[in-house]
Amino acid sequence: MNAFSVAPLGNVLNEALPSPSSMAQRAPSSIQWPDGKDFAFTVFDDTERATVENNRAIYGLLRDLGMRTTKTVWPIAGPGEADIPGPTCEEQDYLDLCLQLQREGFEMSLHNVTYHTSDRALTQRGFDRFKELFGHDPHTLANHSTNREGLYWGPARLSGWRRQMYKVLQRGERFKGHVEGDPLFWGDICKERVRYVRNFTYTDLNTLNNVPQMPYHDTQRPWVNQWFAASDAAEIGAFKRYVTRQTVDKLVAERGCALIYTHFGKYFHVDGKLDPTFVDTMEYVAKHNGWFVPVSTLLDFLASQQPAPHILTDAERATLENRWLADQLAHVLHRLHD
Ligand SMILES: [Zn+2]
Repeated sequence: MNAFSVAPLGNVLNEALPSPSSMAQRAPSSIQWPDGKDFAFTVFDDTERATVENNRAIYGLLRDLGMRTTKTVWPIAGPGEADIPGPTCEEQDYLDLCLQLQREGFEMSLHNVTYHTSDRALTQRGFDRFKELFGHDPHTLANHSTNREGLYWGPARLSGWRRQMYKVLQRGERFKGHVEGDPLFWGDICKERVRYVRNFTYTDLNTLNNVPQMPYHDTQRPWVNQWFAASDAAEIGAFKRYVTRQTVDKLVAERGCALIYTHFGKYFHVDGKLDPTFVDTMEYVAKHNGWFVPVSTLLDFLASQQPAPHILTDAERATLENRWLADQLAHVLHRLHD
């Protein structure tokens, strides 16, 4: 099939168009959440632009609200310059904070091993250092967008014509973590040491509305044991757009699961103050009867509800990829509209 064949593009655009039912209530999920809870809510925090000051304020709020979430770290400083700044566990005050958060019940997770591209030896060293610091291998991981050892990243997130189209948009395939024999390959390390890796994000706060299969295995991406998806709130602007009292009400009514992907370092805490809308929304969420556990705890529970580990079918893969492309298109349109 031609990479730019009209039919599949038409499918994507159809999914992107707002339908009258897109904000309609879905039927409540049949999941019986632990401890009689009505829904699940957690956050996977990308470590970019974290500081001791902003993390102390944000995680203090979450802790006081009874929430335990997942925070990624870079265990080692790289020998080169950072593409995007952020602290590493080689900074003692930051490491002390991470260890304190872990003791308090937050999950520490990995965002590749440092802030720039790492070859296999550096990745190996970063995994070993993570284990030394936190006492176990990371249960969860998300690729850092600019690191070329990204595993199934860039166009390799997609399949078939979608991959070809994305390859043109991204001007080729730069990411090599899954390519055996490449100096950046670390797929076998991921397979051996990481349980869950993040791929797609969507704007719907109820992550299960787009990916009811999660966690799932994709036979086309065998170095990852299980994939998970997330709801997009990449920075404070997106958080305010997608995590509102209205979407929280809908999430609770659906008995759903919000697994939010964000960067708490991106403007949630400015000039020594937490964003008041963020605080208000989190307090609103906490008033409800939610299950507020870290990402790997939540994914372990979802996996336990499956009769067998879920293997993604070709049709399911196509649906996830189409929806993701549609959401990306919606982001672009939103930015143009802004
Ligand atoms: Zn990142």
